[in-house]
Amino acid sequence: MAETPPKQHVVIVGGGLIGLCSAHALLREGHTVTIVESDHPGAGAAIGNAGEITPQQVAPLASPNMVKDVVKGVFTPTHYLTIALSKIPYLAFWGLDFIFASGKKRMASGSAALAQFADGIFPSLDRLTEAGIDTTGQQRDGFLMTASDEDLLVGSHRAYQERAKKGWGTAPGPIMRGKELHEFEPALQPGITGGYLLPAERSLDPVTFVASLVEDLKKQGVDFKVGYKGDRLTADGRGIIAVDANGVEHTFSGDKVVIAAGAYTTPILRKSGVKHKKVVSGKGYSFSVPVETMPRHLIHSKDRNAVIIPMHERLRVVGMMEFDEKPDQFNKSRMEVLEKAARTVIKGADWDNKYEEWVGPRPMTSDGLPLLGAVKGRPNTIVATGHNMHGLSLGPITGEVVADLVAGRTPTSDGKPLDIAPFAVQR
Ligand SMILES: Cc1cc2nc3c(=O)[nH]c(=O)nc-3n(C[C@H](O)[C@H](O)[C@H](O)COP(=O)(O)OP(=O)(O)OC[C@H]3O[C@@H](n4cnc5c(N)ncnc54)[C@H](O)[C@@H]3O)c2cc1C
Repeated sequence: MAETPPKQHVVIVGGGLIGLCSAHALLREGHTVTIVESDHPGAGAAIGNAGEITPQQVAPLASPNMVKDVVKGVFTPTHYLTIALSKIPYLAFWGLDFIFASGKKRMASGSAALAQFADGIFPSLDRLTEAGIDTTGQQRDGFLMTASDEDLLVGSHRAYQERAKKGWGTAPGPIMRGKELHEFEPALQPGITGGYLLPAERSLDPVTFVASLVEDLKKQGVDFKVGYKGDRLTADGRGIIAVDANGVEHTFSGDKVVIAAGAYTTPILRKSGVKHKKVVSGKGYSFSVPVETMPRHLIHSKDRNAVIIPMHERLRVVGMMEFDEKPDQFNKSRMEVLEKAARTVIKGADWDNKYEEWVGPRPMTSDGLPLLGAVKGRPNTIVATGHNMHGLSLGPITGEVVADLVAGRTPTSDGKPLDIAPFAVQR
């Protein structure tokens, strides 16, 4: 008979998407969990995002086209991607590696590494649903990808077809143009001339998802230490020294510690002397807007860089990528750029009455891959962060991988062994 792994006490630093999903997976295996959270559970990038659960799109951001966007981002304040000039020295190495990661070979290996998760994304999410977590607000009939730029339309369609041929996600539907497209999605502005469906992708409402996870974890006895900012690891690597609002230090220790502080991870690891792939903040924005007729689909505009999502009874607009290393700072001009883009995609919205304006920091790595595994030489310190634009898609499965690592098992995705070497903390 297989031996049952011993039950452990795990301290998780960060109560965002990854921390909460990890806690849930650990509880399912009978461990006890403490979550140390500096702000409140669901702060950071957890709730204002686009809600996309998307095996097809889980790929590194770096690509030859993106390099052009990065250059534009330094000089064009109205671009969707911006980089603060003053932060270029801090971001220089990260940016250089991003450019190297955009080469064909590294892009292909990064895509293959992330594609290992493709088959596991929905089953892991479904296990949360079965356990009673609220995954509603869902679109289960795919995403409408649009582009009026013909090269982007055809090129992205081909790229998704190629991914599907490799078994990474479901193939896109045929390209629709003109009348056919507008009959398929009447909410589109006339200027949107091309699109296709990614038929198997799903979405959910991250607000209700996170609230339900927090409530469930509390019921199951997770000890939430809220208002404690993780500062550095304890010397034995099993705990965290955190600072409260009065500047007083507290130590929270267990058998293992999981660092899941999203875009805020690098200062903790740096202070703890842990060499790691740097995680920087790539801020995104969102708002909700009243609309005459709800779009039938989640609309993901490839060329206007805006995602428009029917989410429960409201319509959310999401986009932007801002590198300024001020992860919590709301920048009104970014919101205006997003609104301008969204106006060109959908009609019938009451733009003067936007609400739920939000900013959140994506935890970005230069190669687009998360940091997922134990720290070299410190087997009791696990890092689970750097999920870039995919922390919701990958949250439930990352939680299960963390539980595998805590138990000392080989992590799996949909029952297949997962090679986590590409996600090494130091690489
Ligand atoms: C605009 C936008 C749209 C997005 N859309 C999608 C999408 O459609 N699909 C998708 O899969 N992903 C999406 N993402 C990405 C996703 O939101 C992130 O990848 C995800 O939130 C990362 O999870 P995390 O737990 O690592 O970080 P977070 O969710 O940011 O959580 C980090 C937590 O750690 C806490 N913390 C920080 N520092 C400390 C400290 N020192 N001590 C203790 N606690 C600390 C924070 O307060 C926060 O609660 C989007 C992101 C943005 C910004």
